[in-house]
Order: sequence, then structure tokens, then C-alpha cells
Amino acid sequence: MESVRKTFGGAVVLRDVDLEVAPHTVTALIGASGSGKSTLLRCANLLEEIDDGAIWLDDEEITDPRVDQDAVRRRIGVVFQAYNLFPHMTVVDNITLAPRRVHGVSRGEAEERARELLERLGLAGKADAYPDRLSGGQQQRVAIARALAVRPRLLLLDEITAALDPELVGEVLEVVRGLKDEGMTMVLATHEMGFARDVADQVCFLDGGVVLERGTAEEVFADPQQDRTRRFLRRIV
Ligand code: ATP
Ligand code: MG
Repeated sequence: MESVRKTFGGAVVLRDVDLEVAPHTVTALIGASGSGKSTLLRCANLLEEIDDGAIWLDDEEITDPRVDQDAVRRRIGVVFQAYNLFPHMTVVDNITLAPRRVHGVSRGEAEERARELLERLGLAGKADAYPDRLSGGQQQRVAIARALAVRPRLLLLDEITAALDPELVGEVLEVVRGLKDEGMTMVLATHEMGFARDVADQVCFLDGGVVLERGTAEEVFADPQQDRTRRFLRRIV
């Protein structure tokens, strides 16, 4: 992202945000409620139109008005706080929907990939279950499997553990850790500071729509340079 500016009504929500995400790295966005984390992720996925600046994915400027936005979104997987699974579809149908409908993958191939993903995410026996029969943690892992089904270049995760009971958080974070080990490029907004510190290569502290501080997890958590970052971390950790 280059000098990205986003306003809602007259309010500036992202102000001159520069963010570079290297392939196969994890970036954690931290910051108080309302600091702009979700908006940043939504802009990255073109769910929100930016007012100024530019966003690039690989070598393509995806905020160029001539770009096919649907084609861009197909390269980016997104998982939100609420799992948003289709309640009337089985787990495997949830996962194979986009590959089949949007990417033109055959049913057989899509199901094979889905079962492979379920196996990897510890859900091998759940392919034919309906979402309401799964725990919150299992549902969130299905949502991650669904995002991965289309083999995205980039995965955006917005507070994916925020709606979970504490005892279910670990299993979802474990999945993210596994994806990192496999080299998936991820940007995640999180209030789980221990997790951010553990998994992130780059940490960005947002404050009022500004990336106030950024660095390695070690730099930002162990030796924050900004007073506001220090105060935020003291409050939350
Ligand atoms: P949280 O930690 O609570 O999820 P956040 O860092 O994700 O917060 P955002 O959801 O990005 O924060 O919101 C940033 C600011 O933008 C807030 O002041 C919010 O009220 C405002 N905002 C977000 N979406 C909209 C919208 N669709 N219309 C108007 N204002 C919005
Ligand atoms: Mg948010």
C-alpha cells in the first residue's frame, strides 16, 4: 500500500498508510478499537474504495480503475470474525462452492482439495456435517479452509478468534501457525498480542488511522519507540 487514504463521510480513517508485505511473511495489525485495522484489510481486498494512494498485488496496481476487481478478489482469501458459513450447506459444499462456481474447477477436483484441506486443519470427519453441528473453533477452521480452497496468493484474517470461547482460540491460532510454516502470505488484525508476537514477521501499530510504529515483533513488543505504542501495550498485555 502506498499513501493510502480512506475517509467515511468527512472522517479520515486511514491516513497516508504505507505498508509493504513480503511474500511468505506474516504481518500483524495491532491497535485500539477503531484505529482502522479492519478498514485497512477491507481496502486491501477492494471491499472499500480508497480515496487516495495505490495498492499493489504482485506487479499489478489493483486500485487502478481499469482492473478487473473480481479477478483480484479471487487471488485474496479473507476470513472475518464471524464465520459466515452458509448454514444450509454441508462443510464440503461450503468449501467447494467458490472453486466450482467462480474458478470453474470440477466437482471431483474441488472435493479432493476440500478433503485435503479438512485433513490438514484437523476436520477430516466433518466434511458432511452442517455448520450448526460444529463448535465455533471448528466453524472458523472451515472458514479458513474455504478461503484456502481457491489457492489465494494472500490471506487476510480479521480478528478470527474474537468471537470464540477462550478454550477454542488455540486450535484456530495453531492453524494459522501451520499456514505460516507452509509459506502462506498473511495479514492479520488481532487483539491476541501473544500470538502476534509469536507468529508475525512484521508488526504494525495503528493509531487513529496512522501506522504509528512498525517493526519486527521483537522490536515493537520488546522495545516500542512511540509513547502511544507503549501505553497501548501496557494496557492490553
Ligand atoms: P476493532 O478493533 O474494533 O475491530 P478496527 O481497528 O478494525 O477496530 P475499523 O473497523 O477499521 O477499526 O474502523 C475505523 C474507523 O472507521 C472507526 O472510527 C469506524 O467507526 C469507522 N468506520 C468503519 N467502517 C465504517 C463505515 N462503513 N462507515 C462509516 N465509518 C466507518
Ligand atoms: Mg476491526
